[in-house]
Amino acid sequence: MGDIVGFDFFEDQELQEHPRLRRILTTLVRPKPLFYGVLHWSDGSVLLELDRKVLQSIVDDDDFAGAVVAEPRTIICPDCQAQLRVLAVDTGQAIFSSTLAERLRKHELKAFCPICGAPLRLPIVEFLGPTLVP
Ligand SMILES: [Zn+2]
Repeated sequence: MGDIVGFDFFEDQELQEHPRLRRILTTLVRPKPLFYGVLHWSDGSVLLELDRKVLQSIVDDDDFAGAVVAEPRTIICPDCQAQLRVLAVDTGQAIFSSTLAERLRKHELKAFCPICGAPLRLPIVEFLGPTLVP
């Protein structure tokens, strides 16, 4: 897994069964390295249904209308200094870039630190690890 940027074995296990996301690998300019990330939905899309359509090769763009691309990151709360492991929207990602503003507007983002409640400046879709908030 040395050629995958952002991959963490235990985190990957945690995300494997997650009801609001599916894990993806993307590339930038070259075929390597691969970048670990997720497609994330907050609109209640039933992803088991999506899985089924993927297996049957009958997915289309509509199935991804509610999705944003996010990546695991560690951030520091500007207020309480807590280290937060998060999935943050990758705003530099080419996938969905033409519709990103609209997707972000519709997406339910985690705007506040789960420890102290201070506003967070990044578009965060999930908290991970020990600070996990449902
Ligand atoms: Zn905080």
